Amino acid sequence: MTDRQYFARSRIQSHDWRQPTRARRVVRPRAIETSWHSRSQSSLEYRLVASKTFYIETFGCQMNAHDSEKVIGTLLAEGYERVDAPDNAHLVLYNTCSIRDKAEQKVFSRLQQFKREAGKGKLFGVLGCVAQQEGEKIFDRAPHVNLVAGSASYTRLPELLVQLEAGGKRVTGLSLDTDEAFDTPYTRRDNPHRAYITIIEGCDKSCAYCVVPFTRGPERSRTSESVMAEARRLAEDGYSEIQLLGQNVNSYRDSSPAGWDFATLLRRVAGIAGIRRVRYTTSHPRDFVKAIVEAMDDNPVLCDHVHLPVQSGSSRVLAAMDRLYTRDQYLERIEWLKTAVRQYAITTDIIVGFPGETEADFQETLDLLDAVEYDSLFSFKYSPRPNTAALTLPGHIPDEEKQRRLAIVQEKQRAIQIRRNAQLVGATREVLVEGRNPAMGQWIGRTSDNRTLNFTHPAADGLLGRYLDVRVTRSGPNSLAGEAVTVA
Ligand code: SAM
Ligand code: SF4
Repeated sequence: MTDRQYFARSRIQSHDWRQPTRARRVVRPRAIETSWHSRSQSSLEYRLVASKTFYIETFGCQMNAHDSEKVIGTLLAEGYERVDAPDNAHLVLYNTCSIRDKAEQKVFSRLQQFKREAGKGKLFGVLGCVAQQEGEKIFDRAPHVNLVAGSASYTRLPELLVQLEAGGKRVTGLSLDTDEAFDTPYTRRDNPHRAYITIIEGCDKSCAYCVVPFTRGPERSRTSESVMAEARRLAEDGYSEIQLLGQNVNSYRDSSPAGWDFATLLRRVAGIAGIRRVRYTTSHPRDFVKAIVEAMDDNPVLCDHVHLPVQSGSSRVLAAMDRLYTRDQYLERIEWLKTAVRQYAITTDIIVGFPGETEADFQETLDLLDAVEYDSLFSFKYSPRPNTAALTLPGHIPDEEKQRRLAIVQEKQRAIQIRRNAQLVGATREVLVEGRNPAMGQWIGRTSDNRTLNFTHPAADGLLGRYLDVRVTRSGPNSLAGEAVTVA
């Protein structure tokens, strides 16, 4: 598969399970206010808007999605109630991403739309990467916004909410000068089987194209005690899959005296009773050490999948990107995985059209795809980002050329995936049942190696969250289809 669909698929197709975690305190709104909204020219609809209701919209990566789960948990603990449309909300929050494209413009046009949809008398907050990047300029361009806070300030959210409710017009949380991770017991998870746990926040690398160090601040690892306590609590609550998150999980360093590295943390989390699958993302190749492969080989609870973003197949471009590894060093890590005891699916990220990327550099990326035969990849056109070093590099490439290179990468990868997925026909794989597609009469499962495996089973309900063996009968570029072996 050639883009985000591979991973997004599970989110799109899975059910929206809304179930409180053990840690969640459900608190009813404390006050009610009334307001009038014009719904049509001929009628006015009188509606009640609870003064402590909120609506949140989230963009971006899993880190952002999980940040929103924590923000939601914090708001619920502060007495807010979540609603599913901006016009029912007293507080409208927008958790933003600025990794690519013209994120800022998109945010401002969405904020205008919110203003129209939501009506008067509301509070608006911008969270996440665009908040951090644009800072107080947001108040000038969108004067209806009252709160601007980056992820490094979410620990201060209760205090910021008090300022907001007290009538603060320009409430900000923008300092990156923190050694704290957003470690909260109030996380509101929507999926009752698979849970994210942030183990490290921020990033200390300085890849020339990347805005993350500017928007998420320096690296901060949580203590192993706190990660383990959260994982145990999740297992007790019935979660069977844990996904450890960080911009660079491999550089995890336990700040407590135990001093665990990432490989040790993986082994310990995988050893918790009740946890059947552990995934992690993202790995930086420079910090991806052999001990991680050894930990995975030793423990099948650690899923058969490694996402190892390469970005380019050319050592020259990698140096310009400041990625801190060469093509050969990257391929050495791939060799560890290919010669490991277990078989691992390998996926990656590719950027095409980085400034100065020649046709020969691009060809090296295409050759790398043939050499590694990734199971899936995300591919992006280089997108100039504020504050980043790549902005001043010579040799910026026109958009049409970036588009041409992107299409070539995607076409090549599609052919690789068709071939690799076809090799699985006839095999039996265990899936975690994540959803149901009634129109197709199929269940949606996910394999340990992170493939979507849609399958038939006589049961029409009751399978969500179960682990079943499924025989693969058909394959496509992006998913597999099959029939359940276990039908009891
Ligand atoms: N920390 C991860 C790593 O080092 O691989 C990546 C985090 S970033 C959210 C995910 C991906 O977005 C990157 O791997 C890269 O391929 C892509 N990306 C980041 N900045 C980009 C930019 N300015 N233009 C195009 N793609 C970009
Ligand atoms: Fe960005 Fe590089 Fe850090 Fe990944 S490792 S978040 S690409 S700076």
